Amino acid sequence: MANTYPTAEVKLTIVKEAWAGRKIAQIARKYKVCRDSIYTWMHLATQACLRAFRPQKRGPKFKRLITNEENILSLKQKVSELESEINRISHNHQSIPSHKYARLVRPDRCPHCGHPRILLNGYYPVKDAHGTLVDMPRFICKQCRKRVYS
Ligand SMILES: [Zn+2]
Repeated sequence: MANTYPTAEVKLTIVKEAWAGRKIAQIARKYKVCRDSIYTWMHLATQACLRAFRPQKRGPKFKRLITNEENILSLKQKVSELESEINRISHNHQSIPSHKYARLVRPDRCPHCGHPRILLNGYYPVKDAHGTLVDMPRFICKQCRKRVYS
């Protein structure tokens, strides 16, 4: 008996025929399989069907919901961080004085060592007469590397 092992599709066909009411002995002869195998496959097919028909377990769904809420919270936090970052940048952009202005207020000589080469070294925030923050140019001495404020 050249009993090659049946594929999953063939097993399902066999089980369906058995469920349709055909005699197990007949099916066994037709497909050249033993009856015990057919009973085993019927049992496996029953279990698979029950698994397929059972409602989804709640655990994973609930877990997924919590994860989504956490994601939303962290995304909200990121958005507000970005918003304040944008505010900060746009504020600085508007209040940063031009390089022309920086050159205008640059001291002629270093107040620490008297060196004539003073370099622009970024801006620092100061409050103006209205109490709003404006950025003032800050300098650094090429020789003594000390900070010089205009
Ligand atoms: Zn200096």
